[in-house]
Amino acid sequence: MEKILPSIVQRDPQQKEFHQAVQEVILTVQPVLDRNPEFRKQAVLERMTEPERVIMFRVPWVDDQGQVRVNRGFRVEMNSAIGPYKGGLRFHPSVTLSIIKFLAFEQVFKNSLTTLAMGGGKGGSDFNPKGRSDGEVMRFCQGFMAELFRHIGPNTDIPAGDIGVGAREIGYLFGMYKKLRNEFTGVLTGKSLAWGGSLIRPEATGYGVVYFAARMLQVRGQTFEGKTCLVSGSGNVAQFATEKILELGGRVVTLSDSSGYIYDGEGIDKEKLEFVKQLKNFKRGRINEYVEKYHGAEYTEVDPSLDHNPLWAHQADCAIPCATENEINEQDGINLIESGVTLVSEGANMPSTPGAVKVFLDNNIMYGPGKAANAGGVAVSGLEMAQNSMRLHWPREEVDERLQQIMESIHQTCLDAAAEYGLQENYLAGANIAGFVKVVNAMLDQGLV
Ligand code: NDP
Repeated sequence: MEKILPSIVQRDPQQKEFHQAVQEVILTVQPVLDRNPEFRKQAVLERMTEPERVIMFRVPWVDDQGQVRVNRGFRVEMNSAIGPYKGGLRFHPSVTLSIIKFLAFEQVFKNSLTTLAMGGGKGGSDFNPKGRSDGEVMRFCQGFMAELFRHIGPNTDIPAGDIGVGAREIGYLFGMYKKLRNEFTGVLTGKSLAWGGSLIRPEATGYGVVYFAARMLQVRGQTFEGKTCLVSGSGNVAQFATEKILELGGRVVTLSDSSGYIYDGEGIDKEKLEFVKQLKNFKRGRINEYVEKYHGAEYTEVDPSLDHNPLWAHQADCAIPCATENEINEQDGINLIESGVTLVSEGANMPSTPGAVKVFLDNNIMYGPGKAANAGGVAVSGLEMAQNSMRLHWPREEVDERLQQIMESIHQTCLDAAAEYGLQENYLAGANIAGFVKVVNAMLDQGLV
């Protein structure tokens, strides 16, 4: 620990998000290293924190005015010890190599927990699809795939969606891959149903994060029935987390986007959620339009200079962050506890800063870290790959049943791994330890490659 992190920071001083993700893991796997001196000799942490391969490329494309634009594309192939690289693509102006490396690193542990044979990778671009026409998005996706196609394949590296990459983008990416390779294979997941997609894949991350939370509640003899929940984001994960909370008898009072959030004290019911889905997925509108339709709700623009996000200061029982990394800081963590929140289940990747995580652990609340709680998305992606290989389609109930079993298994694995090291109900330690041990053992089996 004393040597590894400083050397990573020294090598890539600007990669702050990556340092944060690595530090969290290093701190929690310390007892495993102490128990297994061989791991230190084999430099497993040094190997796991260095990607197997980093691909960076230029993506030129033409906008609707005929102007040539240039974006940067990334694919970080982090670790393939337990299966082909698997992880989403993010299109957002904030994307940097640091963001993609942190996401790829997290993905290794997450995929390891799913029980499926998938290594970890992540990719994306600083391209901003917001405000772009379908034609512009298509040309960008085609330009992106014109380079990426030579690095991926159904048995090598299988990308999926993430922020800014939904069904539309996956369609354009898949079309270009198919044309370039002249083959129809399951090289991407999150495909539409008619051409190789899986039922429940769109719902999987959001449903999974709630299934995981329900298991945490069960351990303390509770359910979602009557619980008030703060949800952030209004994209794929937030929408389906909200849907599942409603099904389980809970109440959701907030949703957000990068400009601000809505608070609806009466609760966002099924009809209101349907409005949000139409607004975000088809009209590509903003969440403030919610209050124009539902006058009982309030919209608050979030001032980034504030030391906290007022969304997390509302009275509630549960918080389900589903927007982006570091969206809950230490002050937000304190506000959550003071507002009565006793459960945080992370739909987003690394949405809580280290300060916030410390507040959760110090207060002994139920805290499900993203790499465990949001693993349902990649798990159903793994099921999509299995169906593609067999050229079969499983019914909705079957995929949902498998998703529930996988989330239950991840939950139990976290509990067991934490307990083995005397860290009862510490899901963060449990997720890191269990994910780490499985990947490390596979790496050691395969020799120094
Ligand atoms: P979407 O693009 O569908 O939605 C993202 C949502 O988060 C939007 O409401 C967006 O608002 C908001 N958001 C994005 N960036 C910021 C920001 N910097 N500050 C505040 N809000 C922001 O993405 P997903 O729902 O797919 O992803 C959400 C999170 O879940 C991400 O952390 C992702 O990595 C994680 N995740 C996703 C999985 C999946 O299967 N899709 C799987 C596992 C994790 P706006 O419209 O203004 O940009």
